[in-house]
Amino acid sequence: MTDQVRDVVIAGSGMAGLTAAIYAARADLEPLVLEGDEPGGQLTLTTDVENYPGFSEGVDAFELVEESKEQAGRFGAEYDTASVVDADLDERPFTLELSTDETIRTRAFIVATGASARWVGAENEDEMMGHGLSTCATCDGAFHRGDEVLVIGGGDSAMEEALFLTKFAERVYVVHRREELRASEIMKERAMDDDDIEFMWNTELLEIYGDQDEGVTGARLVSNDDGHPKEAHEEGGNVDLFDFDCGGVFYAIGHTPNTGFLEDTDVRMDDDGYVQTLEGRTSETDVEGVFVGGDVADRHYQQAVTAAGMGCMSAIDAEEWLDGIEAEEKKAQKAD
Ligand SMILES: Cc1cc2nc3c(=O)[nH]c(=O)nc-3n(C[C@H](O)[C@H](O)[C@H](O)COP(=O)(O)OP(=O)(O)OC[C@H]3O[C@@H](n4cnc5c(N)ncnc54)[C@H](O)[C@@H]3O)c2cc1C
Repeated sequence: MTDQVRDVVIAGSGMAGLTAAIYAARADLEPLVLEGDEPGGQLTLTTDVENYPGFSEGVDAFELVEESKEQAGRFGAEYDTASVVDADLDERPFTLELSTDETIRTRAFIVATGASARWVGAENEDEMMGHGLSTCATCDGAFHRGDEVLVIGGGDSAMEEALFLTKFAERVYVVHRREELRASEIMKERAMDDDDIEFMWNTELLEIYGDQDEGVTGARLVSNDDGHPKEAHEEGGNVDLFDFDCGGVFYAIGHTPNTGFLEDTDVRMDDDGYVQTLEGRTSETDVEGVFVGGDVADRHYQQAVTAAGMGCMSAIDAEEWLDGIEAEEKKAQKAD
């Protein structure tokens, strides 16, 4: 552990972390950004971003991330490829343990570690993510005008994605591994009443066909009348294997917030691990000096622009908090 105590350390280098870095760096706080396993965040899983303000023709996702990184660097942000593996937030300055076995200390800590979309584990999904395979209908639905698309999942978010996709797609097929949806009654009803949505019950995705130039062209599916089709297939059961032509596949089986390193701290999280902010406040958490921004604290919007906005708020809040404690320290020194 070095003796150095940072003013601000930011965990995460997606749009939330990078925007926090721009604001903190411009406030002369020389933030250190811990980039984690996915430098640039989830946007690096896609190609074109058409809904980020300021780019009338859309922007290449990688370029957006790289430019943001450079922008923060220009004002003094520093980067380290490490992840936070553990955090001691009981005493200030806070102590963070990194994946590189190093330990760093910081007065303010901004958590911007995102929420990773769960993947199905189908063959070819690594290759096709961002090329017709997506985890975000709001982001990529408009690329599928006139296509037949698959939505994988059976919960509320799958119903939301399917309903949204009917605006663009010719037909939406919800692929669900069971015979009953997990979704709430109201979402079930809406999706089942929609003539553009069809359900494939007791069915699972095995493989995605296509390539990065052509995009998704189809999928291999397995179904089994008694449910658990993949399992039955693996066990050599009598299942129905079939290919299906489609122009897009959307995974909608939930997200996992990257907050494992906060488990032993007093930072409040909901049952799924999303960080909770103080009521009526913007980015402050239950632990004074710890701020949060982006998808890790937002299970609803999960967009680049909302993540950036929340990252901005976390840096401004951190800066104001640091100013406050500095003023208190000066007052205490005078009183001595
Ligand atoms: C395929 C796809 C397409 C999308 N398209 C669009 C689009 O067109 N428009 C749009 O607005 N949004 C889009 N999104 C959503 C958008 O990418 C996210 O809303 C946004 O990236 C969230 O930013 P974030 O900074 O909160 O988190 P993320 O982008 O998830 O970044 C999290 C960061 O935290 C780091 N990290 C994780 N754990 C640790 C740790 N322990 N220590 C340190 N760092 C850690 C990761 O390495 C990563 O850098 C898309 C998402 C996907 C998956």
